[in-house]
Amino acid sequence: MVAPDTGELTRAHIEVRVDPLTRHTSRILPDRGLMPPNDFDLEAFARESQARCPFCPDRIERLTPRLPPVIDPDGRIARGEAVLFPNLHAYSSHSCVSVYSPRLHYLPLGRITERLMADNLTAQVAYAKAVMATEPASRWASINANHMLPSGSSLFHPHLQGVVDSRPTTVQRMLADVPAARFDAYLEAERRNGERALGRIGRVEWLVSFAPIAPAELRAFVRGVSSPAELDDDLTTELAVGLSRAANAYAELGYESFNLAIYGAPPGTEGYPLNLRIACRSNLKPLYRSDSTFLERLHWEGAVDLAPEDVADRIRDRFTP
Ligand SMILES: [Zn+2]
Repeated sequence: MVAPDTGELTRAHIEVRVDPLTRHTSRILPDRGLMPPNDFDLEAFARESQARCPFCPDRIERLTPRLPPVIDPDGRIARGEAVLFPNLHAYSSHSCVSVYSPRLHYLPLGRITERLMADNLTAQVAYAKAVMATEPASRWASINANHMLPSGSSLFHPHLQGVVDSRPTTVQRMLADVPAARFDAYLEAERRNGERALGRIGRVEWLVSFAPIAPAELRAFVRGVSSPAELDDDLTTELAVGLSRAANAYAELGYESFNLAIYGAPPGTEGYPLNLRIACRSNLKPLYRSDSTFLERLHWEGAVDLAPEDVADRIRDRFTP
């Protein structure tokens, strides 16, 4: 292009990367300040939205639906402070919501603890197991999050969402089709290269995406299990430790909204490591810029101006002992 100020011919450097697993492409842009840190008063907004919140202590019992007895005799799954119930606005044949705690209407990312995450994940795992036990055809489970409004959450009160269905989502299907050797080669190459590797927490391996589809995207891989329904308590805790550190690291980078997907394949899928993506979303503010553009929504192509290697450098110390 010819620069407007100098009139000189200039070039911008755009790197197009191919994801080693699903072969989608992603664009790494020069830093353009597309993801400014949070300056929104989330606490004040929390106070405003609290009065009508159906997930808060006085209303959760009354205003949220109950699980059918065949899935859980108590109607809700409680683990620690976490409470899980069906999603009133379902996305699949089995769709649930689990709050970290009814008392935590306001839960900034820096305050997500290992305990809160582990209890919430444990409730989700119990749900996936219970649904699969009653309905063996529902073999595809995922545990997800829209944390804060920019991520797609319609309710302010922080929660996870579980989906168990007889059919996979597009990305679940794409990942389940990846040959086992390709997962091995990817992890091997990332370990060797080291620029995006974060570390291992128990049996869970963490890294920053080589070809992210969203800003500051991290991935984790759990060998030996292919579905959330196969996670035991120890493994769930190991996963939760990493997720809480990821959330805390995002807070440190200035972000307060994220999406999460733990992509289950059918239990026992040979060679498929349970894996996840977690990524930041734009911060809440009036007239904010969405991080999801025509590229992400309609071309299915990531475009980020946070270089994965810089993200890894900034957060790696949280993942290493
Ligand atoms: Zn609430």
